[in-house]
Amino acid sequence: MNPLGERILRTIRATGPLPVSTFMSLALLDPKAGFYASREAIGTRGAFITAPEISQIFGELLALWCAQLWRDQGSPGNPRLIELGPGRGTLMRDALRALRGAPDFLESLEVVLVEASPMLKESQQELLRNAHLPVCWVQQWSEIVQDRPLFLLANEFLDALPIRQFVMTIRGWCERVVMAAGDELGFALSPHPVPLIVSKRRGVAEPGAVLEISTAAEALVEDISRAVATQGGAALFIDYGHAADGFGDTLQAVAHHNPVDVLACPGEADLSAHVDFASMAESARRGGAQVCPLLEQGTLLRALGIEIRADILASADPACATEVRNAVLRLTDRGAMGALFKAMAVTPPGAPSPPGFE
Ligand code: SAH
Repeated sequence: MNPLGERILRTIRATGPLPVSTFMSLALLDPKAGFYASREAIGTRGAFITAPEISQIFGELLALWCAQLWRDQGSPGNPRLIELGPGRGTLMRDALRALRGAPDFLESLEVVLVEASPMLKESQQELLRNAHLPVCWVQQWSEIVQDRPLFLLANEFLDALPIRQFVMTIRGWCERVVMAAGDELGFALSPHPVPLIVSKRRGVAEPGAVLEISTAAEALVEDISRAVATQGGAALFIDYGHAADGFGDTLQAVAHHNPVDVLACPGEADLSAHVDFASMAESARRGGAQVCPLLEQGTLLRALGIEIRADILASADPACATEVRNAVLRLTDRGAMGALFKAMAVTPPGAPSPPGFE
């Protein structure tokens, strides 16, 4: 067990088993040894690679998506461009560069980055130091004063928020917890069933069925949607996830681009769970917003013109043409990220459909 694992073991011995959500929070965000706090998480040298790191076109298209929506909503004053969990800052760098083509939007913007990890905040500051417009950082969404229209982007953010897991037993739903198994961490079920009311859309839970709930993601999406509904703007969430209902254990750990045991080396592997977009849409509606039908990432990027942009980049620099086309394939192909990743857009009630979602 590594030092963070030892600390978690001591906590469990002192205060009892932890819900999966608490284990996830410690493993990802512990200020000393958490995955995002302490190491190079994202990129070819990190644990995993994300869409903005694959191609500059990703950030460019999402930025122009925001600019178009802003115009469609009558160019409201003082818009805020917000990104949740900006990683290395690549998406925002590409976005701000692309927005030079939409100077009316760009010049009225305030940019806010929501980042819990001081180490990643430093990478973002470095990448955005020549942004020439006000950029500020907060650690949590709740620190942003909600007084302006907002255009919010969140790529692979919701999947990093902690989930709780419940397993159907003959006694009912029991929470899966992390406990001490000798000198290791192990999973167990809490002996006390909890009276969960599970949406009928999921179907019947047979014994062994696993129900995942991300109370953090649900509360956040509801809150953001309330801000969008009352202040104007839009939010776009892109993540590895599913729209299908049902049950299943999707918690996974990835280190150096390979799957590893979830409990073996806390802080050294990325932990994530598939985003349950059906629940996210319910949360957004609870917040009073309009939710567009869920799209696959490939469908959205193609509708926004990824292929046209790739042709422009390829002819500007023929030496990179193959690289550009491979990156586009990776982002859009159904066998790669195109279908596994989904995009959910949230707008104020009655607002025009966002580009790509018409
Ligand atoms: N969007 C980026 C990075 C995704 S990784 C990309 O596409 O490359 C998840 C990001 O969310 C990291 O920046 C991580 O530090 C941040 N993060 C994770 N949990 C968070 C939380 N609870 N609050 C704020 N930021 C968080």
